[in-house]
Amino acid sequence: KIQRLRLPDWLKTGIPMGKNFHEVKSTLRDLNLHTVCEEAKCPNIGECWGGGEHGTATATIMVLGDTCTRGCRFCSVKTARKPPPPDPLEPINTAKAIASWKLDYIVITSVDRDDLPDGGSAHLAETIHEIKAHKPSILVECLTPDFHGDLKAVERVARAGLDVYAHNVETVAELQSQVRDPRANYKQSLSVLKHVKDCDPNLITKTSLMLGLGETDDQVHNVLKDLRFIGVDCLTFGQYMQPTRRHLKVKEYVTPDKFNYWKEIGDEMGFAYTASGPLVRSSYKAGEFYIKNLVH
Ligand code: SF4
Ligand code: SF4
Repeated sequence: KIQRLRLPDWLKTGIPMGKNFHEVKSTLRDLNLHTVCEEAKCPNIGECWGGGEHGTATATIMVLGDTCTRGCRFCSVKTARKPPPPDPLEPINTAKAIASWKLDYIVITSVDRDDLPDGGSAHLAETIHEIKAHKPSILVECLTPDFHGDLKAVERVARAGLDVYAHNVETVAELQSQVRDPRANYKQSLSVLKHVKDCDPNLITKTSLMLGLGETDDQVHNVLKDLRFIGVDCLTFGQYMQPTRRHLKVKEYVTPDKFNYWKEIGDEMGFAYTASGPLVRSSYKAGEFYIKNLVH
């Protein structure tokens, strides 16, 4: 029987909450909106919502409900075959809430909605439109599902006026079927990222990998080669954390030094930005980098 690994010190953090935090939290409650930051109990919430040392606040809003049609083995989001229908007022409510906050960068993401004919892509596109209409200065990143390989759905989001298109490959090719829902796979995820560049070569693309699932260095290197080949610009590496006892076990707590190694490799390989660290999440301090480097 495999013993559970002890949590290393570098993963134990306190959660500081600034003034911005409480303001964001109360609007979310009033408008019935969900954030990944809260749902996933993300340890970076104080830093992201509060704006960190450079005052570039970020949050990740989850649209299309809180129930996913898939069941990835690393993810704690609830699942159902037929979740409730999307709230038609969600795009405008999301935009209004965001416009009222002191955020410079927003990440919009969604559960997978394999039950909807367009995978929820029109709802995501409408949300992006509304946000830009309410607050043109804000940078919008959209972290999308794979839409089950439907490239028309990818295109609908890619052309909606966003700044960064993110889709996560999550893990190396060899571990996809153990880690992700059977409807997801490596090739399909690469095809999403590639299609975004085909639609608009200037749109920034981004993907994330979790480490600590049993991947080898060679396997990770191969993913990076594939990503560069299709022009992916930005990359993040973070530690996989087992959300509950029913989820996949952590195989390894990757050391901060090893995360630094992957950052160096990413930089050497020509990614515009690589964020790598035990607590790094897909959207971690995203605004800080994009606002400084890609927009000005
Ligand atoms: Fe939210 Fe992402 Fe920041 Fe975590 S890293 S608090 S999920 S924006
Ligand atoms: Fe979680 Fe996304 Fe997988 Fe759904 S598709 S279970 S939200 S990781």
